[in-house]
Amino acid sequence: MRLAVYTGASLGADPLFAEAARAFAAELARRGVGVVYGGGHVGLMGVVADAALAAGGEVIGVMPRALVDEETAHTGLSELRVVRTMHERKAEMARLADGFVALPGGLGTLEEIFEAWTWLQLGVHAKPVGFLDVSGYWTPLLEAVAAMSAAGLVHPEHRDAAVVAGDADELLARFAVWEAPRRRWAEPPDRGTAPARPAPRM
Ligand code: AMP
Repeated sequence: MRLAVYTGASLGADPLFAEAARAFAAELARRGVGVVYGGGHVGLMGVVADAALAAGGEVIGVMPRALVDEETAHTGLSELRVVRTMHERKAEMARLADGFVALPGGLGTLEEIFEAWTWLQLGVHAKPVGFLDVSGYWTPLLEAVAAMSAAGLVHPEHRDAAVVAGDADELLARFAVWEAPRRRWAEPPDRGTAPARPAPRM
């Protein structure tokens, strides 16, 4: 099993971010769960990679060529895959991962976890998506999604499909029993016997 871990290319202002990232990555390694991430050695991304490697875990980095210098590609990874574009990066990470987790991060982290979340609602994949809510970092964002759901623009089933957890133990326990929601354009049960359409390919 391998998780895609999205997190900041910065360390952030709260030292708990790095502490939680370290503990999370070490726990994954201890349980034999591999990490696939953006491949950088900077910020919280670097903390995750270092901690997982130090605990004997497998860490695969996926990085667009243009970022290899800017985000200082990690040189000690189990494997570094250099791809051409951001889109290739995300597609490769999604392919390699059995689930997706956002630790505290910035706009890049948001973009990546929301893509995984929206692909889940479309049925492009059926893998769990989660947020590690360190110091309540994700709470305002998740409240915004709850407000969007209350406004009728996010289906409650898709809102609730994302796991929110405080640490690796809780997250992995919830992932273990997680079930994919119905995909957005699935036929409602009262629409009879139409065969399920294959998920769109992206
Ligand atoms: P940030 O959360 O903004 O600190 O960025 C964390 C990681 O997300 C960095 O490795 C960025 O290169 C990456 N990133 C930023 N934008 C994108 C994007 N559009 N697609 C994929 N990765 C991205």
